Amino acid sequence: MEYVLRTESLVKQYGRFNALCGLTMNVPKGSIYGFIGRNGAGKSTLIKSVCGLQKPTSGSYEIFGIGNRDRRIFDSRSRLGAVAESPAIYMNMSASDNLRQQCTMLGLPDYGCVSDILELVGLQNTGTKKAGRFSLGMKQRLGIAVSLVGNPDFLILDEPINGLDPQGIVEIRELVLRLNRERGMTVLVSSHILDELAKIATHFGFIDGGRIIKEADAKELNAAFRRCMHVRVNNIKAASAAFDSMGLRYETVSETEADIFTEISVTRLVYALAENNCELISVTERNENLETYFMNLVGGDH
Ligand code: ATP
Repeated sequence: MEYVLRTESLVKQYGRFNALCGLTMNVPKGSIYGFIGRNGAGKSTLIKSVCGLQKPTSGSYEIFGIGNRDRRIFDSRSRLGAVAESPAIYMNMSASDNLRQQCTMLGLPDYGCVSDILELVGLQNTGTKKAGRFSLGMKQRLGIAVSLVGNPDFLILDEPINGLDPQGIVEIRELVLRLNRERGMTVLVSSHILDELAKIATHFGFIDGGRIIKEADAKELNAAFRRCMHVRVNNIKAASAAFDSMGLRYETVSETEADIFTEISVTRLVYALAENNCELISVTERNENLETYFMNLVGGDH
């Protein structure tokens, strides 16, 4: 498999505090890589390091196969576009002028790409309106537009949907999918809004305490999600005794509820519960999702 980004045992220390503690991750070419972690896990620190905004304390990384100590890393990095949590845009300029400004900064000879990019991010009709008067979603899309000047192959978006309304979230989702599918761009998206990432990511990296604790593609992850039968009963003690006698894997959830992870027919369950004088009130099938999977992985509150 080809990778656009690989890191090996990256450490970043701020004073005595290790924000990255030997982080190893692999972002496959062509993927939408969901970078998942709670606040303070080290997502922004990793992104800043890879973008060359700060030096890692130890460890190494490669962008498009070029190591961070190789002089060619600057060329490699020019194939990368990134948007931090608050997009780097000039509020007193129109969308078009923001893009022209970026062309000038990158030394691009003409502004040929401007209208194409504005169209791509859905800001083609904003005319002379200043970015300061845009909605949050439009500002976010303009930030992405600016990072697209120079035609990067790899886009990094740090929490791109933070604070957006549902419409804004859908627009960013569609934009990321278009960039990935139509332009073949690899996109790394960090977020703690897991439902949204679950909709678009092809690969996932879970970060906790400055380390990647699990990397998987969407298929593997779906297969790893536990499926269970959620039952409500009138007497959890009697139900537990019945489950134990049948050798089931289960977790009690409350005084009246339990999740059963062993596959079993409802009929057998009803009989076993009846034998223990326990009444079955309801049964529903439940699938673990990204949110519950992540919580099981990292433990504690999220
Ligand atoms: P969030 O979503 O809240 O931004 P994050 O996963 O991006 O979380 P980071 O911003 O990378 O987390 O921060 C990781 C840890 O490093 C945090 O505990 C943070 O307080 C600490 N940290 C980040 N930058 C600095 C700094 N310049 N000096 C000291 N500590 C820092």
